[in-house]
Amino acid sequence: MSVARKIRILADAAKYDASCASSGGTRRDSSDQQGLGSNEGMGICHSYAPDGRCISLLKILLTNWCVYDCLYCVNRVSSDVERARFSVEEVVNLTLDFYRRNVIEGLFLSSGIIRSPDYTMEQLAEVARQLREVHGFRGYIHLKTIPDADEALLARAGRYADRLSINIELPSQASLDSLAPGKSSQQIRQSMAGIRLKLDEAREQKTQSQQIRSLPGQPLARVKPPRFAPAGQSTQMIIGADASDDRSILQVSAGLYAGYRLKRVYYSAFSPIPHASARLPGQAAPLVREHRLYQADWLMRFYGFDASELVLPGGMLSMEMDPKLAWAVAHPELFPVDVNRAPRETLLRVPGLGVHSVQRLLAARRVRQVRRADMERLGTAGRKALDFVHLPDHRPGAVQLSPAARPRPASKAAAHGAFEQTDLFGWAEPQAISA
Ligand code: SF4
Repeated sequence: MSVARKIRILADAAKYDASCASSGGTRRDSSDQQGLGSNEGMGICHSYAPDGRCISLLKILLTNWCVYDCLYCVNRVSSDVERARFSVEEVVNLTLDFYRRNVIEGLFLSSGIIRSPDYTMEQLAEVARQLREVHGFRGYIHLKTIPDADEALLARAGRYADRLSINIELPSQASLDSLAPGKSSQQIRQSMAGIRLKLDEAREQKTQSQQIRSLPGQPLARVKPPRFAPAGQSTQMIIGADASDDRSILQVSAGLYAGYRLKRVYYSAFSPIPHASARLPGQAAPLVREHRLYQADWLMRFYGFDASELVLPGGMLSMEMDPKLAWAVAHPELFPVDVNRAPRETLLRVPGLGVHSVQRLLAARRVRQVRRADMERLGTAGRKALDFVHLPDHRPGAVQLSPAARPRPASKAAAHGAFEQTDLFGWAEPQAISA
């Protein structure tokens, strides 16, 4: 099979993994001879480097053969898709070739599981090793790791990769038992814990090496601390393939962030695959649900919200309003908030105010009273917040949403999940509600 054919199969098979990108963009192409380019291809995804740069990654599988039979996965052993497999050298050469042509700045490599978890992990780590050690590759490498693989192999992968990720797949063991036979939540978490330990060790050693260098009278120590996945670890959860509600999904995420210091939990709305099992829903999960989960996730990490505060009584997030607005509307007794007196944590809960706007308000009120004009200078965020705050020259009554704060209906396509999953250029970093 030609390398071009393998790329077509294995880049297409990789598009279902949202761990370095996600979905939600509109589909565009130039098949009508109007304009240039297309965002419907596969093979390149975007990710964010630790310094915040958006980078393009070659996103492929080493192979789409797999011994597992996860019902939601197009690569499962019982699937009748065309199979292909790259050799280690082919992936290395492709990466270098695309890199030299300035098409990509890194590699996102995943794989179906062949022979054994250890064998597969060894091959993935070997790609990264050859890139770094043989070719001096300095680009970004994200390796998907195999939960049951030996710890020494995970350590090896972390030595060469910038980021490692292990997919949690579904929120509970019961869901895994039903849809991903053979996968163990405990095993996945054990592997995450192993990576976390190594991340902590690497951080500790880095601190120690800096301390040695800074001792007075000591010659400069040239010893470099061992490298281990400096961009940390992440995971992905499939949304809507099982009956888990948003509350349990968010609680699992909160536990993962706290327990394993994950950089990100990626949510991937389930989309039907060919010849799917009757145990799976016949419809794609609405992408607006995925979007709301990202917003709620952000609120838990940066705004001090708890999962149970953000969901509606039935355990789901509002599809009509962003979770912060839905929470505020459900708690009119807490508003309006006095911008000149409220603590930072309270201001962060005001719809419209993001981390940066709150910082600006706190800085301003140190020197004088904040007034309506100051809020308006914050732009849309400030105007949206006016319904929820009072100021010396602005005293709203009970919370009533002005046009600036009213929720905008999700687009028809997003509400019905009409987008493809994980398409090229399809992801934008979730907004911090305002900011
Ligand atoms: S182990 Fe991964 S590649 Fe294999 S069937 Fe399950 S989800 Fe798909």
